[in-house]
Amino acid sequence: MNKLRLIGGRVIDPHQGIDEIADVVIDDGLIASVGTRADRGRQRESSNGERTIDVRGLVVAPGFVDLHCHLREPGFEDKETIASGTRAAAAGGFTTVCCMPNTNPTLDTASDVGWVISAAGRTGLVRVHPIGTITKGQKGAELSEMADMAAAGAVAFSDDGRSVDSNLLMRHALAYSRIAGRPIVDHCEDAVLADCGVVHEGRVASLLGLRGVPSEAEEIAVARDLVLARATQGRLHLAHLSTAASVDLVREAKARGVRVTAEVTPHHLLLTDDWVAGNGSGRPPYDTNCRVSPPLRGNEDRAALLAGLLDGAIDAIATDHAPHTVVDKDCEFDQAAPGISGLETAFGLLMRLVHGSQLDLPRLVRLLTIGPARAFALNAGSLEIGAPADVVVLDPSAEWTVDVERFYSKGKNSPLAGERLRGMVRLTLVGGQVVHETPR
Ligand SMILES: [Zn+2]
Repeated sequence: MNKLRLIGGRVIDPHQGIDEIADVVIDDGLIASVGTRADRGRQRESSNGERTIDVRGLVVAPGFVDLHCHLREPGFEDKETIASGTRAAAAGGFTTVCCMPNTNPTLDTASDVGWVISAAGRTGLVRVHPIGTITKGQKGAELSEMADMAAAGAVAFSDDGRSVDSNLLMRHALAYSRIAGRPIVDHCEDAVLADCGVVHEGRVASLLGLRGVPSEAEEIAVARDLVLARATQGRLHLAHLSTAASVDLVREAKARGVRVTAEVTPHHLLLTDDWVAGNGSGRPPYDTNCRVSPPLRGNEDRAALLAGLLDGAIDAIATDHAPHTVVDKDCEFDQAAPGISGLETAFGLLMRLVHGSQLDLPRLVRLLTIGPARAFALNAGSLEIGAPADVVVLDPSAEWTVDVERFYSKGKNSPLAGERLRGMVRLTLVGGQVVHETPR
């Protein structure tokens, strides 16, 4: 049948505690074996008509799982489609993506969720799991049909793009999360405190004369959510944490047994508000590609987010891939749409932490695979025998220059344009099928 061997690579599967030189054999779309090289000779003689790929010097890992991306379909096909977004995901090593419901219309009902799943079945290159809204139209007034959406395949619920302002609605939503068996994902931002800010409130904001978002705008929302999750015993997931105190709050809540998980983005881990001033990149200030929500913070926040990854306060790295058109970003900084097109640069950017000895590669793989899979209870993120062969082959030392015009994503909005990155995705398999390949 359809057999594929990846031979001689360093296999890293944190779920199974594997980190060794081994061969991965894929048969009929499933992981057939992960074996030592000594087994290979025998297997090779007994079989033929199969594809063998020499991956010596490369890393073989479970395909990455992204809990947070914006595929923009339906309604914003000029920014991205399920086809272009999942092609970008494949290029970034992601084999499973969860897409946010701030589309047009928003994903409020079982039929909306079903539409995305069937569209992804027709045009998607990787596995797509929709996230439904918490409130109808994300208007913050009335809860959506969460149980129906869960039955139709929604893996979580979120009004991402904004917080659920009403404490009462959030309390109800968290109570329902227990019934639906799916987490509530909050974009933690007190809109009144954020006060239409566009960058982190601090030195750079003052220097550039831009309105700042104080850290407390996020932290108050995080604290509120944790109090309500504790009271309801609901399932809470916090999106794109960006401040040091947010990480502390989550760490303390976990120690008390609150059912909370949290994610952080590659850009909040690697970039700071200095990039808005142009210092980090050596380019002119006010690059609208640095406008993101929550904003890029200071270096102390960045360090605290990393510490949260290391001690387990944060469960997953999620891209918050937010593609926009050129027009959305070709304007004054404070008018620009917030977001970064991040799927294709995530691994290369995150490898700066590994090359800088701030994070080891097995832990990085964990944070991109079984960490996120567990947070949303997804059947993904491992190379267990019998699991779907969702696999990524990584070249940790290959260098490349970010050329946004070569992005598969329609969104060319990246502050990393022109950056040199070290770490490349060589091969991505979904169910044993090659969905992306960059030959050596
Ligand atoms: Zn968000």
